[in-house]
Parts: sequence; C-alpha cells; structure tokens
Amino acid sequence: MSVSIVSRSSWGAQPWNGTPDAVALSQRTEFFIHYDGAHHITATGKSVPQAIERQHIAQGWAGVGYNFVIDQAGTIFEGRGWGKQGAHCPGHNISGLGVQIAIGGDQEPSAKALSAARALYDEACRKTGRALAKKGHKDGFATLCPGGPLYAWVKAGMPAEGYDGGAAPVEDKPAAWDGKSFPGAGAFVIGKSHAAVTLLGKRLVAHGFGKRYTSGPGPKFSETDRLCVQDFQKAQGWSGSDADGYPGLSTWSKLMATPKNAAPTKVKYLSLSSLIKPGVKHSQVKKLQEFLVKAGYGPIKGAYTTYYGKETQAAVARFHKKNPTLASKSYDPAIGAKGFVELQKEAAAK
Ligand SMILES: [Zn+2]
Repeated sequence: MSVSIVSRSSWGAQPWNGTPDAVALSQRTEFFIHYDGAHHITATGKSVPQAIERQHIAQGWAGVGYNFVIDQAGTIFEGRGWGKQGAHCPGHNISGLGVQIAIGGDQEPSAKALSAARALYDEACRKTGRALAKKGHKDGFATLCPGGPLYAWVKAGMPAEGYDGGAAPVEDKPAAWDGKSFPGAGAFVIGKSHAAVTLLGKRLVAHGFGKRYTSGPGPKFSETDRLCVQDFQKAQGWSGSDADGYPGLSTWSKLMATPKNAAPTKVKYLSLSSLIKPGVKHSQVKKLQEFLVKAGYGPIKGAYTTYYGKETQAAVARFHKKNPTLASKSYDPAIGAKGFVELQKEAAAK
C-alpha cells in the first residue's frame, strides 16, 4: 500500500515560525498516536491542519507540532513531516514521529483514518528500516491523549483493514528486477541490499551527486545513499516529503535520464604520421597547414598543399616559439607528435 501525503504547500501552510531542527530517519524509534483534545471534530480536509496550525503558532511553535495529521476521511497532511523535529510529546520529539488523528473526546475513529494511520506506520517502518514502537501519547507523558478508543487501538497493535495487526511491517516481495526499471520503494531500505542500489549510486555519480561516497556505491542502501539522493532531489527544486532521500518513480526516471551537463565525449585528435617531416610530400601536410592557420600561426604562402616546405616550417617555428617545450631539436622545425596534438587543441579552441 502506498501512502499519499498532502504536502504543507498543498494544504496552504504558513511559513515556518522559526524552522524546526532536522532529524534523520535513523534517529526515529517510536510512532506516537495523538487525538485533538476534548471535543469531537466533524471537519475534514485542509481546514483540519490549518486549525491546528493557528493554535500551535499562537502558542509560539514553529507550525503544526505533529509530524502528520490524519482527518476522518483518511487524508494524511504533512506537518513536521519525516525529517523535522516535532512538538508533540516532551522527551520524544526526536525519537518519536507524532501523528494526530483528528478526533476528540470519546469519538470513534473512522476505519479510513485508522487504515491511513496504519499505512503511515508501515511506511515509517520501511523508511527507517526498523519496527517502530507503537505508542499513544500517554505512554510518554501524563495526559488523556489519545483518548479511550485510539489508545485501545494502539494497544491492540493498530489493526486496520488489509493488515493483520501487530505483525511486523509487510515486506515488499523481492520480485525479479529487470536491471533498469524502477524496482519499487522496497528496494531502498536502509541496511538492505538490492542490485538496484548499485545502479542508483552509479547514476547519482553520473549526475554529479556522488561526492558523499567514500567507497563504491551499492548494493546495500545506506544513509550515504539516502543523502546523495536527497541532494539530487533538492537540486530538482523538490522539498518536504518529495526530498526525503528515498527514490520514487520520479527520482528514478530523472536519474536514468542523460545528465543535463554530461561531460562532452572525448575529442579524438589525429596522430601525426611518422612520414611527416620537413621536405616531404604527404596528404597529412594539408591538415597540418589547416590547423596551423586556424590556430593563428599563418599565413602559409601557397597553402594548402601536401608539401612540407619552408612556409609550413616557418609556421611550425611560430608555433614552437609559443610552445617551446614542444620543440624537438632533432626534428625542429618538424611539428612533432605531441606538438601536432597540441596544435589541434589550439585550433579547436579558436
Ligand atoms: Zn497528544
């Protein structure tokens, strides 16, 4: 089951009132369920996180204090998201992801809200690579939160439609991978190996996002891989959960595409024929004359010919005057093999 999250920008969040600290997924060990408080809530949609935001900013917080908020329609809204410190349970705001299910008092949560919360929990376990402890707010702090019905649900192991309740998060079945298509999110779990991780790393390097690697990428997905992916995602102008360092289909497609600033294919230069020396006639002399003129060592009277005469030698001497290390006493004023290549570079740069 994939989890769809309404980003802060999509629900119209205010700018952060002081940006919360970043928290790495590797620091998360707990998953806290909250409710809204004493009163029943009938509203669904954007107004739900917006109301929480108003309240939390009014008490001086950066914005919505929960990592996520889920309404009774089962829609998940981004608060602090996966990567920011929450403000939901003292002493557990770094280790714990806090999720509010928007109900209050003795209100019963909807099946949709519970399914969404369970799916979010499984997603959190997948992202962190561990089975996060399932907790209600009152497990970390003296409070009535998350209320009777939700607390009972947490203690029952967060059962929801499509889940067997209390079991370890469902692992993606390792299907045969074709070596190029998006392998599925299950290929990118911290500490787990998958052939796609190696390709991921190679493509990151090809796009210039491999600077963090100290050893060759793959096949085990590491925090370094995640940070490299995040650099790449941010470079696309993405943010929030779109830049969490875990490759989805969009990230994968962009990585597999040819890098925009790909290094130009290596230029091939002609190598000098061993027959070329002052006084000879050879078809390559014409090339030599062309390069000399193009690089600014002309004029060569009578060019272009196949004859390596005095005029060509004089042009080569002008080239050597500028590149004294390329002059060879024994062949001077012959261009020399290295000089011939250098001359072509200069000609190409004109
Ligand atoms: Zn709470």
